[in-house]
Amino acid sequence: MASSRTNPVLIAGAGAVGLAVALGLARRGIAVVVLEAESRLVEEYRASTFHPPTIEMLDGLGEGAPLRAKGLVADKFQFRDRQTGLISEFDMEVLADDTRYPYRLQIEQFALVQLLYDDLVKLPNAQVHFRNRVTGVNQTADGVVVTVETPDGPAEFEGCYSIGADGGRSEVRHSLGIEFEGMIYPERYLVTFTTFDFWKVMPDLAHVNYVSDPEEWFVLLRSPGLWRVLFPTNPDETVFDEDPDTATMDGLAQERYQRVWATAEPYPITHRNVYRVHQRVATRYRVGRGLLAGDAAHVNNPLGGMGLNGGIHDAVMLTDAIGRALESGGDNASLDHYANERRRIAVQYIQAQTAQNEQNMHQRDPEV
Ligand SMILES: Cc1cc2nc3c(=O)[nH]c(=O)nc-3n(C[C@H](O)[C@H](O)[C@H](O)COP(=O)(O)OP(=O)(O)OC[C@H]3O[C@@H](n4cnc5c(N)ncnc54)[C@H](O)[C@@H]3O)c2cc1C
Repeated sequence: MASSRTNPVLIAGAGAVGLAVALGLARRGIAVVVLEAESRLVEEYRASTFHPPTIEMLDGLGEGAPLRAKGLVADKFQFRDRQTGLISEFDMEVLADDTRYPYRLQIEQFALVQLLYDDLVKLPNAQVHFRNRVTGVNQTADGVVVTVETPDGPAEFEGCYSIGADGGRSEVRHSLGIEFEGMIYPERYLVTFTTFDFWKVMPDLAHVNYVSDPEEWFVLLRSPGLWRVLFPTNPDETVFDEDPDTATMDGLAQERYQRVWATAEPYPITHRNVYRVHQRVATRYRVGRGLLAGDAAHVNNPLGGMGLNGGIHDAVMLTDAIGRALESGGDNASLDHYANERRRIAVQYIQAQTAQNEQNMHQRDPEV
């Protein structure tokens, strides 16, 4: 086997986090191989909010300007009561002395994934292999061997480090024997998208609106060309199996939309998705030369839009940590710092804040 210094960093997952680490490392002159299970980039509607520190970090990767050009500037966000309307509006302009970008940028996650990919594949020291599902990570004396399943059968890649950026069900995490501690919410979330113009009927809405209600809260977010409306489903609704059909989801969405604002015609719903929501953090982010980042390391409810943002922050810090470890000839202090610090932040801030956001949405006590 070649020395660990010359082997590439092997990254499982060509999502936003895997591609952000890959681009950061490749730009530092470190060879990377990204192994992606799917046959192309995943284009699901998932996260859609980028917070100020993340936008600044994306500048460092050269992706801030192109993403801002595609997105919507949301400089205000609201907390509303379903019955009484606006409770409070927060103007992010107050952060103008603290950040270059005092706003949330509203743009679908797959726009960033595509930008990262397009820039990554231009670099000579970067490879992306689709239809390569990572099945395991084995540690050797001075490196890692990652096993993959490909259309032509099993294969192996040798690397100096492996990064599990392969999402919430991370195969890398399983392979490293790391527990994913936490809980699952009883209700699933129904995420829908409509071309209906909510500003026509509720002109005082901001781009980002959290509408609380003891019975049926919802979130109304503007993204380019569409409103995204997120509802919880009732825990006792048994209509959702693992692969809910579109007609069932449409029926439920139409009912809920009518309770947001009654219309004579059905709402034009362009996309819908239903998913289970977990709050979990990996017990460790590092085992030897195996590291975790993004959803592979932590998942949380989407209230506040912190999942992907936290993942990008992981990616930036991990890029620096691996760069330092390689430059120092194998001193792993920077990797330990990454693992401990990002885990601490996931637990103390992201998990705590998103859990609190969820409780606020169905708060029954008017004083609170
Ligand atoms: C339905 C849904 C809706 C969401 N909505 C929001 C939201 O509104 N706001 C918010 O902040 N967050 C949301 N999230 C969370 C947010 O999308 C994630 O935090 C973000 O995608 C994390 O990025 P990632 O790159 O770590 O993982 P992912 O985006 O999951 O990417 C993982 C990649 O790894 C690949 N992969 C998986 N297994 C393997 C394997 N064994 N080998 C190789 N490749 C593999 C996958 O195909 C994928 O390309 C949502 C998530 C889901 C699932």
